[in-house]
Amino acid sequence: MILTVAVPAPLYKTFDYLSHDKEDLLGANETSDFLITEGMRVEVPFAGRQLTGIVLATKRQTTENTTTKYKMKAIVRCLDTEPTFSKKLIELIKWSSQYYCHPIGECLHTALPTALRKQNTIDKLNTLIIIRWHRSNLDFEENKRNHKQAEILNYFINQPSGVWQESLKLLGITNNQLIALEKKGLLYREELDPLSVHQTASNKLTKILLNKEQTFATDTLIKHCDEFGIFLLHGITGSGKTEVYIERVKHSLERNQQALILIPEINLTPQTLARFQSQLNTPIGLIHSGMSDKEKLTMWHLAKNGTASVIIGTRSAIFTPFKNLGLIIVDEEHDSSYKQNDGFKYSARDLAVKRAQLENCQVALGSATPSLESLLNANQKKYHYLSLTKRAGAGQKPDIHLIDIKSRTLENGCSRPLLNRVKQELNAKNQVIIFQNRRGYSPTLLCNSCGWIAQCPHCDARLTVHSRPPHLHCHHCDYKEAIPESCKSCQDKHLSPLGSGTERIEAGLIQHFPETKVIRIDRDSIKKQQDMKRLVEDINKGEPCILIGTQMLAKGHDFHNVTLVAIIDADSSLFSSDFRAFEQSTQLLLQVSGRTGRGDKKGSVLIQTKHAEHPLFIPIIEGDYDLAARNELEEREACGLPPFSKMISIRVESSSQIINFEQLNQLKNTLKSELAQTSNYQLSGPLEASMSRKAGIHRSYLHIFTTNNTTRYAIQAKIPGLTAKLKRKVKVIIDVDPHEYT
Ligand code: ADP
Ligand code: ZN
Ligand code: ZN
Repeated sequence: MILTVAVPAPLYKTFDYLSHDKEDLLGANETSDFLITEGMRVEVPFAGRQLTGIVLATKRQTTENTTTKYKMKAIVRCLDTEPTFSKKLIELIKWSSQYYCHPIGECLHTALPTALRKQNTIDKLNTLIIIRWHRSNLDFEENKRNHKQAEILNYFINQPSGVWQESLKLLGITNNQLIALEKKGLLYREELDPLSVHQTASNKLTKILLNKEQTFATDTLIKHCDEFGIFLLHGITGSGKTEVYIERVKHSLERNQQALILIPEINLTPQTLARFQSQLNTPIGLIHSGMSDKEKLTMWHLAKNGTASVIIGTRSAIFTPFKNLGLIIVDEEHDSSYKQNDGFKYSARDLAVKRAQLENCQVALGSATPSLESLLNANQKKYHYLSLTKRAGAGQKPDIHLIDIKSRTLENGCSRPLLNRVKQELNAKNQVIIFQNRRGYSPTLLCNSCGWIAQCPHCDARLTVHSRPPHLHCHHCDYKEAIPESCKSCQDKHLSPLGSGTERIEAGLIQHFPETKVIRIDRDSIKKQQDMKRLVEDINKGEPCILIGTQMLAKGHDFHNVTLVAIIDADSSLFSSDFRAFEQSTQLLLQVSGRTGRGDKKGSVLIQTKHAEHPLFIPIIEGDYDLAARNELEEREACGLPPFSKMISIRVESSSQIINFEQLNQLKNTLKSELAQTSNYQLSGPLEASMSRKAGIHRSYLHIFTTNNTTRYAIQAKIPGLTAKLKRKVKVIIDVDPHEYT
């Protein structure tokens, strides 16, 4: 037999291998009726190495094949007894490979769980046992010394079906802690064979009565549950989108269909999981990058064999196999973490739509601030539009005010009026969020006497000053050095940090409010997911405090006692040159604003800006995302930018911009001559990247905009061949629907 195999190599083609010997096959006793089929993993020799490839087609060997001079290699062995990828998943990945102009072998490799990328046979999995922990009826008395145990047991409230060990581990709970509780009889374990998990009956589920808008949204989704359809659920923060998802998922479960829930951040998984678990009496699986390879593989199998009826996962979970998928939900669909930024640059949101189409099931995209792409699709009736306009639980829309800082002095980033308001809120025993999307102490180190600025030696970028520990750090290439004692240009000793990052604001606030707890939340202070989980629990105890952080703070967390959100600097992102900057920063501003007034107290938002009179702020002050989106859509349409056109960016990297430009100009000319018959496209460039040198490498771009699908497909089909010619001289990186403009 001849197998067409995709191997993980940066080549736009597949390779044929022979399979004839019985020894090729796994489980020698089964060989008589064992057939290698599409979607199975095979170990193959490739360029002197053994790689795991995926069979894409099989054909019988004919005499013709044997007479060719070319000697076809044989596979080493087959690694699966049944296909790892279903036909539909293969179809999805083949489609993505063409759409994103990325080699099929690498796409498939990305879609595989890490454990299956190695040459492991699948039979090892049978030894895996799933443990689900349950709370016993035994009473527990909390005292000073068993605080941690109380915390763990609390997690079992409203979890009538028990909690999977993997989920508990995610929350930072160790095996030893669980065993200690088991010895005391407070917890008991249920050992489940991963291939035959049975469900626990329950009568303790939480039930929430949906309001009118939620009911309408749920009913509409259920009415159309039988077929492919794309729904945009636009609901303001706190409008109860999650409850709509849960009701819709319940309906899937009644019909024995599985559901896939995509969420943007692994930080949000425990929170989302807990909400789904409290209302659904069903095994829910998790898939995200914080799990071990073995755990991920287990979840993968539980979804594949139908045991897990719901999978909650981040980006890569879009490739989870299902036995009977009936629904895909993409929460916070506008979030750019759905887009993979290196290697196979897919958008999990867009693949969710494609996958739903292939599986003939429903897909719901939810957001308080939908992407312009999705809004345009809704306007054009390609997506069904559902909206939730009112907050569901307690809480009201916050008031939003600007603070003009054009002619004010700032104390470590904060203006007087801002500090006064913070003080007011703290006096009233409330919590405050200060938002600055820039970590470190200060983004610039400046010499006061000659104007020298500390630059990264490898990038066209400034070094960020960090104070704990003191050093200079390039956020683009990770280069670090000690803070110099004097100017490297004039040797003057007066160097000063210019501008404020989270560390500096934190230091200023500690000085200003010595009695108050100040908690910083950014990538430097939160290293593990458990850190965040603990902090959120701590914060929700309600003590007055100040939270200072980056967008890690903005996303999804539910803080009940926060009444003021202050944004230190709205200008750097709102007025950036990237055409997506306004959309992304408006979304972020409104998401951050959504963090306040979630309890029963009304919240307010303060935004510091030097451009208070700018019309861009009108919709923001109104908290009117629709207006902001309408304005922005008009501008994009006038400029022919996405979503009114589709964009493909081709970046090349080498040791010299001259070579980059030479190669891109050559590509541009070839494209032009090959597309001489069509006019529905535009080429822009070559251009130097805005950071033209990064980590010592020079970078340039060619942007392609198309307004017609046929032209776009034609271009996407040509790109692999055309860029292959460039690859001898430069590194080529192709990004379809890029999120980063330059
Ligand atoms: P979103 O995801 O749209 O931001 P959530 O689903 O998190 O909103 O809901 C916000 C809060 O309102 C949650 O605490 C939730 O439990 C509560 N909530 C949602 N729907 C209802 C309802 N119908 N009745 C009472 N509370 C609700
Ligand atoms: Zn100087
Ligand atoms: Zn650098």
